[in-house]
Amino acid sequence: MQGVRNSEKPVLIIGAGIGGLTLAHALIARDVDVRILESAAELKAVGAGIQIPPNAMKVLRALGLDQAVMTHAFQPKAIEARMGESGRAVFDIPLAEQAISRWGAPYFHIHRADYIDALRDTLPENVLQLGARVKSYAQDKDGVQVTLTHGATLDGQILVGADGIKSIIRTQMLGPDAPNFTGNVAWRAVVPMTALGEHAPRPTACAWFGRGQHAVTYRLGKDGQLANFVGVVEQGDWREEGWSIEGKKTEALADFSGWHPTITTLIENAETLHKWALFDRAPLTQWVDGRVVLLGDAAHPMLPFMAQGAAMAVEDAYVLAKVVADNRALSDYQNQRLRRTAEVQAASRANMGVFHKHTTLSQLMTYGPMWMAGKILPNIVHRRMDWLYGFDPTT
Ligand SMILES: Cc1cc2nc3c(=O)[nH]c(=O)nc-3n(C[C@H](O)[C@H](O)[C@H](O)COP(=O)(O)OP(=O)(O)OC[C@H]3O[C@@H](n4cnc5c(N)ncnc54)[C@H](O)[C@@H]3O)c2cc1C
Repeated sequence: MQGVRNSEKPVLIIGAGIGGLTLAHALIARDVDVRILESAAELKAVGAGIQIPPNAMKVLRALGLDQAVMTHAFQPKAIEARMGESGRAVFDIPLAEQAISRWGAPYFHIHRADYIDALRDTLPENVLQLGARVKSYAQDKDGVQVTLTHGATLDGQILVGADGIKSIIRTQMLGPDAPNFTGNVAWRAVVPMTALGEHAPRPTACAWFGRGQHAVTYRLGKDGQLANFVGVVEQGDWREEGWSIEGKKTEALADFSGWHPTITTLIENAETLHKWALFDRAPLTQWVDGRVVLLGDAAHPMLPFMAQGAAMAVEDAYVLAKVVADNRALSDYQNQRLRRTAEVQAASRANMGVFHKHTTLSQLMTYGPMWMAGKILPNIVHRRMDWLYGFDPTT
């Protein structure tokens, strides 16, 4: 199949999230002219952390972005699971050196604002256009044209919809359909470690299991000076989605009443608690229409229970840039990415069942063998992640 490249016009990327920004770097590294159109007037700091697993770090390293990211990132010593109320350990497996030796790159935690800043500040000038909300696109054999909401139009050779879970590019390409509400609501907060005293989270990535709910704690900042809290609760009736919806502390404390002091102390000391409903979509079978292609959450939104949504966008970016630079058909990108992203979407969904056991019996039957495996064969836990973290999209 023929490629669609026409080098006089830029590749137009819609959306300056982690996916769109990484794609811009990956294309520039291959001498492809790019322009990012972002609807927000500024790329604002979001008060939340994000995990950067080794599969994404390999891409950042290949693009020369690893140092800019690592300057602000915290390297967890271990990956842990605990019972939410008692704090009893389910497993505690070393991660720092093991990530490098087993999967070929370190595992990091970073504040989202620092991640976005690192990706944006290393871009050449005039690549990113803020305040540019795309309304629609048209295409013919010579190129694509996008129309912004204020009426201006821009021409490009290829259009990439990296515009997130509510992608308008996806809607125009495949028709309207709403994402699925997964029945989960997430609480989020970032709290200075100094406020937490003896109950500060350990320097690990820790999942806390409960009945119909779970929490995740980890540290942020180069020296781990911030603590990140995510608390997910099954709650069928609340469906507002967004980063900036503030929730009430009393409500979060009620959701995690009786939980370990690490969790309740984090909630008590949070200046702001954000809350939003979690959506995903069933895997798509088509991400490409002529010169238009989807990337990141626009193509494959997932529950955050594998901490891989942004990592998949970063992997997409590397693969798509190579396909475009080689002037191969965009369907080559789609074909390389469909299966992997669908597997990660499915694994993220499946983790809900693992994290949210509803009865003591089902908890014992799930976490008992995990505890045993962690004690006797800790390597098993590492091995179970090889397919995910060991993957290297750059080779
Ligand atoms: C609670 C939670 C925890 C998570 N933790 C992790 C984690 O630890 N690790 C991980 O890898 N992932 C994690 N994720 C997933 C991750 O946040 C997303 O998968 C990732 O941010 C998606 O990036 P993106 O660039 O595809 O989309 P987005 O980040 O949604 O970016 C889309 C951009 O497009 C812009 N835009 C939208 N419409 C238009 C338009 N019409 N015109 C112009 N611009 C437009 C938006 O303003 C936005 O800037 C988590 C998600 C949640 C909810």
